[in-house]
Amino acid sequence: MSDCIFCKIINGEIPSAKVYEDEHVLAFLDISQVTKGHTLVIPKAHKENVFELDSETASYIFAAVPKVANAIKSEFQPVGMNLLNNNGKEAGQEVFHYHIHLLPRYGKGDGFG
Ligand code: 5GP
Ligand code: ZN
Repeated sequence: MSDCIFCKIINGEIPSAKVYEDEHVLAFLDISQVTKGHTLVIPKAHKENVFELDSETASYIFAAVPKVANAIKSEFQPVGMNLLNNNGKEAGQEVFHYHIHLLPRYGKGDGFG
């Protein structure tokens, strides 16, 4: 999708700090870094949100999630991690290309929740 910021990240038009990549999935650091190592996992196929997601694309994403989580764990040594996914404007979705937030947690006062 030509006007999608995450499609632009996938095709290299916009730079990102890559955490993980395979044929179907890309993970990169969120620009906002709500907590240290805050990462987004996205399908390379443009799917707006969970309502548009097909099972095959979902399986690629969820196959990658534990790999990404462990890469973050090794790099940043969090004590826990939240997975978060907003679907629809009213649910807080701002970028309309499906993504899962991986939010590493470091205990009280880490900036989230
Ligand atoms: P949403 O609110 O849609 O669940 O989350 C969108 C996320 O995308 C936000 O956390 C925001 O910081 C992140 N984001 C928006 N634009 C960019 C960008 O150009 N690069 C990166 N790395 N993250 C972005
Ligand atoms: Zn897109």
